[in-house]
Amino acid sequence: MIKAQRGTKDIFGDEIYTWQWILDNAKKVFQNACFSEIKTPIFEATELFARGVGDSTDIVNKEMYTFSVGGADKDSSSITLRPENTAGVVRAFIEHNIFRQSPPQKFWYFGPMFRYERPQAGRQRQFHQIGVEMFGIKEPTADAEVILAAVNFLKSVGLGDLEVELNTLGCPKCKNDYRNSIKEALKPHLNELCDDCKMRYEKNPLRILDCKNENCQKIFELPEIKEIIYKDYVCEECSNHFSELLGYLDSLNIKYSRNKLLVRGLDYYNRTVFEIKSSALGSQSAVCGGGRYDGLVEMLGGQATPAVGFAMGVERLYTLVDKINPKKIDYYIVSTDINETMKLAQKLRDNNLVVDFDMQKRKFSKQLEKASKVAKYALILGEDEIKEGFYSVKNLETGEQVKVNSFNELIK
Ligand code: ATP
Ligand code: MG
Repeated sequence: MIKAQRGTKDIFGDEIYTWQWILDNAKKVFQNACFSEIKTPIFEATELFARGVGDSTDIVNKEMYTFSVGGADKDSSSITLRPENTAGVVRAFIEHNIFRQSPPQKFWYFGPMFRYERPQAGRQRQFHQIGVEMFGIKEPTADAEVILAAVNFLKSVGLGDLEVELNTLGCPKCKNDYRNSIKEALKPHLNELCDDCKMRYEKNPLRILDCKNENCQKIFELPEIKEIIYKDYVCEECSNHFSELLGYLDSLNIKYSRNKLLVRGLDYYNRTVFEIKSSALGSQSAVCGGGRYDGLVEMLGGQATPAVGFAMGVERLYTLVDKINPKKIDYYIVSTDINETMKLAQKLRDNNLVVDFDMQKRKFSKQLEKASKVAKYALILGEDEIKEGFYSVKNLETGEQVKVNSFNELIK
């Protein structure tokens, strides 16, 4: 038997109702805050991610689904299934001259992402993200608006008590100074770091701070290393940006904590980075990750444009939210006259009711049995009902049956 690929999942039946409900909430919350939806392609030029996500990241180094189409004389360019969506949105932003519109330009998206990872709870190879990208505003009001959008959306699906962790990486100059002092401090311990971190040391040293390896974490606790990590190294402008943001979060009553080890895996972040976490998720605790990426639009060939955004994993959200009861069928028509049944079903559906009936013309008792499993009401259309022009409606929870004289009463 052919099975779904490792790390992928079919979503159907009861689950799909919760998924749809999560998405309905996203649409409502983001549209209320004037973000408009953007749908970009699922595959892009490999180069977009190599440059846009950064070739020192795990995503680009280990996790991309990359392939080329056709032979040497055909279109043999390398393409990749998107591992995240910021790079794609930025490409679209540049390609369609969206930067010419007056800022802010605000987008939200939903869709599948692909990463070749070891599948485990909360970690798949095809997973889904909901995200937001805001362009054109350098002030920390934009950081606050984006964090607020994430928090409001999470509240709308009943998750009001998640933890927002924040950090500031500073501007490229501060980041560089910090990177150098971290490297200097870790130099004597290079041999004790895990293999991944040994590689990161040259290419992406800040990412070392994000390492979950116990040995590496012990090293971060050494007093001389801790002192460097916890030193305030950002310049005055970056420091003001961060404290202004914290002020907005305070006045919006958004609870947060500062996490100096939070650096995020991607190369493009500067200044604000944040994650929203739930302890209920165990080791895969991050639901949402985001930050400011003022350099990315220019780096990908556009005009320099400040930007800030986030992405959240829908599969991780799904495990946290209360599951929605699948919407039950309003009426299941029970009748021996299939023509009358089909006509009535159509009229009721025209009035936005959820209606089903038996297409196999089975016995009355079988139809009633089915109705009681799937519907709120059985709408009985027997010989008497058709002859005398009324409907019998049986409430399948209480068992009570009433006579209904007009169609209008049915749709009330
Ligand atoms: P992690 O540290 O858990 O690998 P990440 O830093 O790689 O996360 P991001 O690139 O920031 O994740 O993506 C944002 C969100 O997407 C994550 O917080 C998580 O909820 C979700 N996510 C990332 N990778 C996966 C995956 N393989 N399966 C399911 N959800 C994922
Ligand atoms: Mg990851």
